Amino acid sequence: MTDSTNPIATALAATRQTIRELEARYQRATGSVQLLAVSKTRPLEAVRVAMDAGQQSFGENYLDEALPKINAIEGAQWHFIGAIQSRKTARIAQHFDWVHSVDRAKIAQRLSDQRSANQARLNVCLQVNIDQESSKSGASVADLAALADFCAALPRLSLRGLMAIPAPRQTLHEQREVFAQIRKLFTELQNQHPSLDTLSIGMSGDLEAAIAEGATIVRTGTAIFGNRC
Ligand SMILES: *Cc1c(COP(=O)(O)O)cnc(C)c1O
Repeated sequence: MTDSTNPIATALAATRQTIRELEARYQRATGSVQLLAVSKTRPLEAVRVAMDAGQQSFGENYLDEALPKINAIEGAQWHFIGAIQSRKTARIAQHFDWVHSVDRAKIAQRLSDQRSANQARLNVCLQVNIDQESSKSGASVADLAALADFCAALPRLSLRGLMAIPAPRQTLHEQREVFAQIRKLFTELQNQHPSLDTLSIGMSGDLEAAIAEGATIVRTGTAIFGNRC
């Protein structure tokens, strides 16, 4: 049941509306930008409310926090978007539909090996560390093409595209500049792997720039669920 007075339902509707307006403003096809609701640190109940309001895909960063939600909630699509440790790949491969944060061959190999044969292939994006920040995960730009070739050859993965979390920039112009760089890398990868269709860029604070530069998935948490404490 949709409760239109719930703040999460209201914020979700507003975010969807914003996305539709930005699609129109930047000549993007209607519905070409998918909203991923980032539910990290949010309680199960918040995810339920968002689902009741029509949201189907959710992003989580921390496996141990995500598993109880995944087990309790039926019918959602789960995207892993956090840093990946080797010892967690089996459970990530088993419980998620998408992984946005593949950044090295060893992790890709394990995810493919551990994805069960009776599940659909695991959809993956490569995370690129576009600002070369030592604190952040992500493959370097130099390693990206080889990593894409490696992932595309793995039997239980479906390589879908690219994800990035640029360092914060203040102006729309600066945000667009870095997203344009990422889009260029994406286009180059598409030349080698024409089936790539996913550019996962943009969060609550840089949604407009991301949609202007070709995002197909935007990942928003605070815009939907409010500030994290
Ligand atoms: C937390 C997080 C988001 C959502 O960020 P908001 O600013 O809350 O919209 C998106 N992507 C990743 C990888 C995150 O860790």
